[in-house]
Amino acid sequence: AYRLQMKDINKSFSGNQVLYGVDLEVPAGNVLALLGENGAGKSTLMKILNGDYSLESGEIAIDGGIVVIDSPRQAVSRGIRVIYQELNYVKDTTVIENVLLGSFPRKWGAFFDWKTAESRTREVLGLLNANIDPYARVADLNIAEKQLVEIAKAFSTEAKILVMDEPTAALTSNETKNLFKVIRQLKEKGVSVIYISHRLEEIAEIADLVMVMQDGRRVGYGPVSEFSPSEIVRLMVGREVNQNLA
Ligand code: ADP
Ligand code: MG
Ligand code: MG
Repeated sequence: AYRLQMKDINKSFSGNQVLYGVDLEVPAGNVLALLGENGAGKSTLMKILNGDYSLESGEIAIDGGIVVIDSPRQAVSRGIRVIYQELNYVKDTTVIENVLLGSFPRKWGAFFDWKTAESRTREVLGLLNANIDPYARVADLNIAEKQLVEIAKAFSTEAKILVMDEPTAALTSNETKNLFKVIRQLKEKGVSVIYISHRLEEIAEIADLVMVMQDGRRVGYGPVSEFSPSEIVRLMVGREVNQNLA
């Protein structure tokens, strides 16, 4: 089981502070929905977790042990997998190569056995009910298929902590259902999931915990059952909002 804690995280860019003492905790096997308006600091916080941005001050701990994450590669070695909105598939590669890339972080080409790779890729895609040719070029896939390849890539490694930034933005409702099924399987294995989304109905369905950010600060945190949709919106924007306009 994997518990993630980020404690008192501050971050500035050229003297402009964007995160103010942010705390985040995901108990093992829980899904934390991370919410906030554009610019609230969600991606910055996740990029610190992924080693894309340096940690200015504060601590990151996995199962209570403090970890240093200086690079995305180090994040992967700690079992952290972040799926960004901007898909970062490798150009001119097949689905197999993308899905298995994280499983063979070093010299993977040298040990590559296509038969094993193909069946492993089919297995992972099957979990997602994704009907995608393992030998297709990722560049030729549609946006939903590319998104599924990204998700499959994260599932192909033993992720302890999985971050998904609006993973269902390009998915059909069936694909979303399958994704939720897989997320529930991961939860049973003790994986901690951070789920960034604006879709409140999805959050009610899949999240255990809610965290709301506003202007670089955490303004709400707790069990999803304690947050009504209108309360979430109020916290996100920092004032009462007419639901018809929200
Ligand atoms: P969110 O993901 O919640 O929309 P972001 O984390 O992307 O918010 O952005 C939070 C703030 O940090 C914004 O004001 C954004 O302009 C700023 N920011 C993010 N990354 C950088 C960067 N690399 N350089 C300068 N400012 C940045
Ligand atoms: Mg944004
Ligand atoms: Mg963002």
